Amino acid sequence: MPARPPSPASPPGSSAPRSDAAAALAKALAKLGLHRDIDLALHLPIRYEDETRITPLNAARDGETVQIEGTVRGCDVTYRPRRQLLVVLDDGGDTCTLRFFSFYPSQQKALAVGNRVRARGEVRTGFAGATMMHPTVRSAGGPLPDALTPVYSTVAGLSQPVLRKTVLAGLARADLSETVPAEFLSKIGLKSAWNLESSLSFLHHPAPDAALATLEDHSHPAWQRLKLEELLAQQLSQLQARRQHDALRAPPLPAAAGGLRDQLLAALPFALTGAQQRVVAEIAADIARPVPMHRLLQGDVGSGKTVVAALAAAAAIDAGHQCALMAPTEILAEQHFRKLIGWLEPLLAPFGQRVAWLTGSQKKKERAEMLALVVSGEAGLVVGTHAVIQDQVLFKSLALAVIDEQHRFGVAQRLALRAKMAAAPDGDASREPHLLMMTATPIPRTLAMSYYAELDVSTIDELPPGRTPVVTRLVAEARRDEVVERIRAQLDQGRQVYWVCPLIEESEALDLTNATATHAALSEALPGVLVGLLHSRMAPAEKKAVMALFTAGQMGVLVSTTVIEVGVDVPNASLMVIEHAERFGLSQLHQLRGRVGRGAAASACVLLYSTGDAPRLGETARARLKAMVETADGFEIARRDLDIRGPGEFLGARQSGAPLLRFADLATDTDWLAWAQSTAPAMLDRHPELAARHVARWMGGRSDFLKA
Ligand code: ADP
Ligand code: MG
Repeated sequence: MPARPPSPASPPGSSAPRSDAAAALAKALAKLGLHRDIDLALHLPIRYEDETRITPLNAARDGETVQIEGTVRGCDVTYRPRRQLLVVLDDGGDTCTLRFFSFYPSQQKALAVGNRVRARGEVRTGFAGATMMHPTVRSAGGPLPDALTPVYSTVAGLSQPVLRKTVLAGLARADLSETVPAEFLSKIGLKSAWNLESSLSFLHHPAPDAALATLEDHSHPAWQRLKLEELLAQQLSQLQARRQHDALRAPPLPAAAGGLRDQLLAALPFALTGAQQRVVAEIAADIARPVPMHRLLQGDVGSGKTVVAALAAAAAIDAGHQCALMAPTEILAEQHFRKLIGWLEPLLAPFGQRVAWLTGSQKKKERAEMLALVVSGEAGLVVGTHAVIQDQVLFKSLALAVIDEQHRFGVAQRLALRAKMAAAPDGDASREPHLLMMTATPIPRTLAMSYYAELDVSTIDELPPGRTPVVTRLVAEARRDEVVERIRAQLDQGRQVYWVCPLIEESEALDLTNATATHAALSEALPGVLVGLLHSRMAPAEKKAVMALFTAGQMGVLVSTTVIEVGVDVPNASLMVIEHAERFGLSQLHQLRGRVGRGAAASACVLLYSTGDAPRLGETARARLKAMVETADGFEIARRDLDIRGPGEFLGARQSGAPLLRFADLATDTDWLAWAQSTAPAMLDRHPELAARHVARWMGGRSDFLKA
């Protein structure tokens, strides 16, 4: 292999000491995510400029972007109406005035009278003759380029010429050898001349006669090739993840007839809905197998996910193992804890079993007791916050892990839970617990298919009977007084009210001032009513005390600063007021609204909005509020949220590490997707090395995330 010059993006350690300029370049490239030669090669132009020809001035149309060439006849700085450089260029047929409002002495020198230059820009023709504002100017010395000039997306401090040079150098060094076997390519009508190498080199310097439109709308065969390569890489890496997963082992948890699960079912004060029965059966079938379940349970707020988790936990305990349930906040965890104790402890007690409780704020002694229950196996069920995954927590035999509000946890936390089986005192590294992730924010099907292929999904698409739909109203901030009247009316009927204040980005202090003021104003407006305040800076014990008063019905109104405590379940609460609703995300609003309408009483949600200094709400804020008024269906809300935010934000790519598609578009490239889906298994079976190279080339280190 020929010796390669050190790449500008290569890490320190290359022979020559790195100059400041090289360090700055490496930093800028890193910002663009360009680390490897292949990354540079795949950094495609966002558009092209045609510098391959010269247009005579008298053939240029008004408004057209052209390149002209001529001799400088005048070069003067004038001060009226403001300082500017005026250059007169004569191309033999006509003259054009070049106008610069900002310029350097070096530019003035390059544009000295008598010089021959090329200028590229938009021509304006008018009474005063042709003009160009701030054209790109180069000396007319060399031959014209023979390819379109690519323009790349860049960051501050990295100029187009430098980036262009770096990209082309990366392209030249990168290994672009074919990874897709001909047998698969022959199935699609793409000419084999368009392989990765020829496609990339074409896209980085297309011939002057290339149809720009096909480059811009990505219909050109070179683009098609990239799309199919990218989709194939994605399908391959998901399939790899799936196969690795299928090779894992977990303790089978069959439901014993008449066992704990059946007893729990019989003891419940309600019958399961049809949807609950269906997902319970799906989960039961999964955990009865010796392969770890990876299942996402999605169901709207209030759809009854907790009891589904409890039934799975009962099966784990019945089989002689343990279950851990993790929730993102202490209040949520405690609520689960209380409910599960109520349901399960009477059934566990005869066997000398307990439910353990783990949180960060726990007293040392209590914590030590709980840890002992967990490691001895006496606690069949362990409920808690992040405290559950800490290193000190050793399970005797964790066979089922349930994560509530799974989107609030990261990949690392999920992995930590999965490692808890191997970490047991007599642990077995080849085994993992079954994993049940719960969410009230459904993932739209198209996204689920392409990004969560290794995940099975169960859906509760039905609410328990007897719920009354929540009426949602938009109310302008100016009519706040009317809202207070509404609150009073609800309180008079013995109902309770939530008032949520927005999170003010990066300023918890401001948050608090606003909530404190609202709390004071409501206390004054509602004499004789206990108005509580809950905010993120309160100690857990204080929060608990406030929540207890609200749950017991003694507190009429609960003002809350943040949305941390969204899981609370108080059926008597019938009104939810959300202040500055325009600042909340759509799924947040929907989740908050789900706190009311849990009982039989008619419930309402008031979205108080303010346009601030603007005459009207911004477009996305308006779309969110409109969606809230128009639908109460969590799936429809999720679909609209996807429309409003786009898939990148929806998936929280940075947090989840899910590799987003850069070239292919799932909505339109369905043929390529189908091809990639059918090709991936055959390629992995018959050409494992090519498959590995293909995935490494396209995904870099990112494919690891898929396994979580
Ligand atoms: P979420 O899915 O939002 O976590 P929960 O599990 O908290 O919902 O359930 C909401 C409420 O509905 C709880 O009080 C729960 O006990 C109750 N519930 C769950 N399933 C049913 C059912 N089939 N019939 C009646 N009430 C139910
Ligand atoms: Mg819940």
